[in-house]
Amino acid sequence: MSNEFQAHEIRDIIKINYKYSMGGQSKFFLELMKNKKILGAKCTKCGKIWMPPRINCSDCFVPADWVEVKHTGTIEVSTIVWFTTSAFIKNIPYATGYIKLDGADTALLQGIFSENLVPSKIKKGKRVRAVFQKEREGKMTDFFFVPEDEYSNWISKPEFEGGD
Ligand SMILES: [Zn+2]
Repeated sequence: MSNEFQAHEIRDIIKINYKYSMGGQSKFFLELMKNKKILGAKCTKCGKIWMPPRINCSDCFVPADWVEVKHTGTIEVSTIVWFTTSAFIKNIPYATGYIKLDGADTALLQGIFSENLVPSKIKKGKRVRAVFQKEREGKMTDFFFVPEDEYSNWISKPEFEGGD
């Protein structure tokens, strides 16, 4: 009989229920969930509007105030996603990109969905608009962007709605 160690392994599942706090960013997620507002943060010194919002300006290191930005914006850079996590696999292929929302000075990384996803739909400079889930949980997945010319089609679907 060999004395060589051999591990005996059993495949099993660990299920963990947990919660985490959005901390100082909580207001962004609460306003998104309750009122479909997209909040940025405006530096109290230089006036730069950060999106996603920051508690303090990363340039001046002073506090920033909450400020609402528009639901429309311009794609700065994008890509088509073919490999993703289980949460998004049903959406493949979809796009993701950095979108500079009107009224913001920095760009937000967010999903871009299209009924006809071709590179020309999501290229730099294309205009997009936010579509919201009807059932919102206060998460980034509560909204996504669509090309402006597809907006009315997307918000007519039963699970989605437009912002005001
Ligand atoms: Zn600043």
